Amino acid sequence: MRPPSSFEPGVSEGGEVDFERGLQPQDFSEFLGQENLLEPLRLMIRAALEREETVEHLLFTGLPGLGKTSLAMALAKELGAPLKMTSGPALSRAKDLVGILSQLEKGTLLFIDEIHRLPTEVEEYLYGAMDRFQIEWTFDAGVHARLLKLDLQPFTLVGATTREALLTPPFRSRFGHHLRFEPYSESALAQILVRSAQLLRIKLDDAATAILADHSRGTPRVANRLLRRTRDIAQLENDNHVDEAVVKRTFSLLEIDARGLERPDRRVLEALAQAAGRPLGLKNLGVAVGEAEDTIAEVIEPWLIRQGLLQRTPQGRLLTPEGWLALGQAPPPLSDSAEA
Ligand code: ADP
Repeated sequence: MRPPSSFEPGVSEGGEVDFERGLQPQDFSEFLGQENLLEPLRLMIRAALEREETVEHLLFTGLPGLGKTSLAMALAKELGAPLKMTSGPALSRAKDLVGILSQLEKGTLLFIDEIHRLPTEVEEYLYGAMDRFQIEWTFDAGVHARLLKLDLQPFTLVGATTREALLTPPFRSRFGHHLRFEPYSESALAQILVRSAQLLRIKLDDAATAILADHSRGTPRVANRLLRRTRDIAQLENDNHVDEAVVKRTFSLLEIDARGLERPDRRVLEALAQAAGRPLGLKNLGVAVGEAEDTIAEVIEPWLIRQGLLQRTPQGRLLTPEGWLALGQAPPPLSDSAEA
């Protein structure tokens, strides 16, 4: 079996989910490195509390692992509000949604992850709930049709998505405020690593922190996973002390190279190289590397693009000259790189 990479979402490696949960920020003071996201939320909380109303509906957008779920949890804590968490795929029928909405307590923060995967039919039921805290649905058809209205307790919907473009305009416009999560700076990631190390009772020195932050791809989830991997080696070989040597040894075991490329990155780059300069669509690329299309598009590719190794074109994905170089190969002659 292929060992999990350090940045794959949802890898079912023993206790990964519990591990993440244990490091989740509990309130705004622990949500590090994104003051620009907290500032508008603080204002909204104050205004809503003063008016004795719920906070307006919020849309959190950004790549996986940037803290959308964490911020929703911290927000509920700050508001002292009940939190209900679900996801687009879990709400496949209108019945599922009505079941949840009808049981919300006043002021609940309802977090729907992957909200772009909500079926259209379910999404439309949500409109009335968002606009008027009311759901309307029709029983039976034809002459027997009856319209039922159900009043709901006021609530705040927090929708999270990695694919904002997939939301319909009427849905998007119902969110009073959009928060865009961007990759974190290295200094923010360093702060997150230091906090996580304290929680895990690991000694983490400055040099090790800097290397880990540098390899975290702007993503707290990656930072914490790399720390977790180093912890195992530190525990076995270095008295729980993560120093530069432990980090380097971890990277060599995980096959993270000097450029920071991991095995899944290299597989993507190699698949593109094998296409000999012809662009590959996401589907073909997924088949070639044995990864889900979403994992490639949302987790692997964004970093490769930021590193200037891969480019997206309307015809598909291509290696850049720098990408060929990273594989130690020469780019094919220009005439070969046009789509056949
Ligand atoms: P998303 O919902 O965007 O996929 P998560 O909220 O699940 O991301 O974040 C993944 C992990 O990264 C969390 O368990 C948490 O430990 C850590 N994390 C994310 N953002 C922050 C932050 N701003 N400060 C501290 N830790 C964070």
